[in-house]
Amino acid sequence: MATIASPLPLSTTYTPASPAEVVETVRSAVAARAPIYPLGGRTALGFGSATKASGWGLSTEKLTRVVDYPARDMTITVEAGITLAELRQTLAAERQYLPVDASQATEATLGGLIAVNFSGPRRFGNGTLRDYVIGISAVDGTGTLFKAGGRVVKNVAGYDFCRLLIGSLGTLAVMTQVTLKVKPIPAASVLAIVDLDSASQAESLLSAIIDSKTTPTAIELLAGHAWNDLAALNSTGDSTSYRLVVGLEGTDAEVEWMTERLRQEWKTLGVAEPRFIRDAAANELWQRLIDFGCTPAASAGASDKANLVFKLNVPPSRVVSLCELVRATFPQASFLARAGSGIILVSIVETASHELVKPLIQALHPAVAAVGGQCVLWQSVVAEEFTRQLAWGPLRGDIAVMRKLQRQFDPHGLLNPGRFPW
Ligand SMILES: Cc1cc2nc3c(=O)[nH]c(=O)nc-3n(C[C@H](O)[C@H](O)[C@H](O)COP(=O)(O)OP(=O)(O)OC[C@H]3O[C@@H](n4cnc5c(N)ncnc54)[C@H](O)[C@@H]3O)c2cc1C
Repeated sequence: MATIASPLPLSTTYTPASPAEVVETVRSAVAARAPIYPLGGRTALGFGSATKASGWGLSTEKLTRVVDYPARDMTITVEAGITLAELRQTLAAERQYLPVDASQATEATLGGLIAVNFSGPRRFGNGTLRDYVIGISAVDGTGTLFKAGGRVVKNVAGYDFCRLLIGSLGTLAVMTQVTLKVKPIPAASVLAIVDLDSASQAESLLSAIIDSKTTPTAIELLAGHAWNDLAALNSTGDSTSYRLVVGLEGTDAEVEWMTERLRQEWKTLGVAEPRFIRDAAANELWQRLIDFGCTPAASAGASDKANLVFKLNVPPSRVVSLCELVRATFPQASFLARAGSGIILVSIVETASHELVKPLIQALHPAVAAVGGQCVLWQSVVAEEFTRQLAWGPLRGDIAVMRKLQRQFDPHGLLNPGRFPW
């Protein structure tokens, strides 16, 4: 998949080949007071608020070494510019994997993935990068190399800088090296699919699955026309119904047991014919679940039409009611709810963008805030729409603490300026 043209105002781009060269580059930028934009595979540069400050790109494309892979300890240390595809290939040789999903894996880098902290359908069962990153080396905004965590799973106690860096969108430091915990690749993977007639049926199946004896890896609720072309969903073309997709992974025996158990549990709830898919058909659907909303903005077509993608984070118990509100507000939307984790991704295409922004702010922001959630804009073809308020939603109460913390790492405000809520 193509990477997007950089929406960042870059005057020049440096490609340091070692952490020492990253230090040198950042120190030169500090001397010149030039903003620094860390660049990985450039697949997610449209994410974050728009910035006008011209500065230097700092590409990690030459930081791709596997530093240490003690497979028996189930950890790996790699440089931050390695792509997810390369990382997977290295781990697959030992039948291991990083259990976090990634879209555009041949371009997306580990550093970029950690900086944006995206997670996919397997988040419900496997957790997020915060559960797998055990060590990070990085260069802060003064050009100082520092290390957080370590290379072993049991680290000494102290401030957990790794968790702080994950999801900080490159505003605290440029990551140069990462140590990860990894897991064995599951032997079997099945997706269970049910068509649902109504929101209330969705509600009852979702509450039942929380009490289920099975341990799903993914619980996804889908709706809208974006899913209608998928043969695996056995689509009727009816874009008004919901579909529930549940991922089951583990050993062959575990998955066989869970499949049978889920069939029985759903039967008592009146679900007569769930479909179970595996192998190639399941792989295609897994990938679509991972890729939803990740299409590069550049491929969205005419610039007056929006390819608007936003993400709601809400308590899992509010997922269905918020999905209903999204449907009422944007009947043309397609969406995917990571129902077990309280995440709703909404994608709207081929609508004039100015028609979308007002209802987003007037209807959804207050509803999401009322349940203690957050609404973040992921993607829009119109860069001006990425104001901070729209990109990140209303500022949270802890913003003053966050600002203070950020100044400790980047006193001159040179790392990705203007792209985060501060
Ligand atoms: C709208 C959108 C939604 C997506 N949703 C998902 C999803 O749900 N699940 C999923 O798996 N994938 C998702 N992706 C894809 C995937 O997350 C990104 O492709 C990947 O995380 C970014 O990697 P990259 O190397 O291309 O980073 P880039 O696009 O190059 O950079 C992304 C951000 O990270 C910073 N950065 C990059 N490298 C470093 C570093 N070494 N140190 C510090 N900061 C750094 C950059 O400054 C930039 O702000 C999405 C992509 C987009 C555009």
